[in-house]
Amino acid sequence: MQLRYNFRVYPTPGQQIGLARAFGCARVVFNDGLRLRQQAREAGEKYVSDAELSKRLITQAKLTPQRAWLSEVSAVVLQQALADLNTAYRNFFASMSGKRKGRKVAAPRFRSRKDNRQAIRFTKNSRFTVLDNGRLRLPKIGDLDVRWSRSLPSDPSSVAIIKDAAGRYFASFVVQTAEDETLPPVESEVGIDLGLTHFAVLSDGTKVAAPKFLRRAARKLKRLQQALSRKQKGSNRRKKAVVKVARAHARVADTRRDWQHKLSTTIVRENQAIYVEDLCVTGLGRTRLAKSVHDAGWASFTGMLEYKAARYGRTFARVDRFLPSTRTCSDCGRIGEKMALNVRAWDCPCGSHHDRDVNAAKNIRAAGQADLNDRGAQVRPPAMAAPRSEAVTHPDAARTTRSVEGISVL
Ligand SMILES: [Zn+2]
Repeated sequence: MQLRYNFRVYPTPGQQIGLARAFGCARVVFNDGLRLRQQAREAGEKYVSDAELSKRLITQAKLTPQRAWLSEVSAVVLQQALADLNTAYRNFFASMSGKRKGRKVAAPRFRSRKDNRQAIRFTKNSRFTVLDNGRLRLPKIGDLDVRWSRSLPSDPSSVAIIKDAAGRYFASFVVQTAEDETLPPVESEVGIDLGLTHFAVLSDGTKVAAPKFLRRAARKLKRLQQALSRKQKGSNRRKKAVVKVARAHARVADTRRDWQHKLSTTIVRENQAIYVEDLCVTGLGRTRLAKSVHDAGWASFTGMLEYKAARYGRTFARVDRFLPSTRTCSDCGRIGEKMALNVRAWDCPCGSHHDRDVNAAKNIRAAGQADLNDRGAQVRPPAMAAPRSEAVTHPDAARTTRSVEGISVL
């Protein structure tokens, strides 16, 4: 399985110029490719092949005065920009024809220098190397200072250099992990209810609240956003406020990701099977609950559970979201009346007293187990997309997981 390892890098001013040039060249080649294919389509010509695109937009373009400057950056960076375009097209076609499941993929769009995220990718054959002194050598850029927060388990197959909206640089390595990381089997299986009062409630009764530092950071972000909205358009103060908001935003996202990593790893280690409700987050996203849903970041959390379960040989399943998990008694199976959001506990005529969320989590676990039995054998998990980040970059997150109620620390 492939995993991504992210590290902060600190390019010198000279290297920043080199990187900016590479970002720019990659963007131009990507956009040239998109334009060429769009024009071919409008003219009723056939789809321009990947090989043809590479020949015309890199090899031949470098010989023209308009694109001669493409020679100033590593050719691999340009090839990879076209590879991104080809992937975007393939996903789009697969989505249109129904071959690709899930949310519809839009047609590729032009990249802009104003995009929040600029990225280039180097592969093995561009000869990027991690030097003995810990620096990352990139062709035509130089030796970058990397803040290694952990060591790579094996030789990376590629590295992307990313600049985010807050002006920070990251190196994101793709590493093939060892074949077998299966954890020794354990007895317990868990159902997880993702709620609004708690971040998550487990069928064993554990309630996990979003940590205080996260709520505090989110409040600070909100204040900064309000301050930004008061600044005059085009003013210098506004520009400064934009950077501040971007920084705070990145900090909240990083901290939340680190926290979710710890929580998801703990749950996967302690349980043989993990069942979650298949929340249609995009559907909920249009309602009044939207804000809390997006803040809670359930989609990224269940994604982590899924790839970690696959990686460590555990079972993960999403349970049908039309299951009335809240009002079904987990003891006798009776389906009760609909309940208002403020009803936190209820009694079933069978005599059971239920905590609303724990009962829901138990039903999710039962439904997940029944689904798996129906399917007969355990289904092999599909190949997992590389997770976005494995590296813990925030001391806050490392510290505070210890205070997560009822969850042991790794
Ligand atoms: Zn009952």
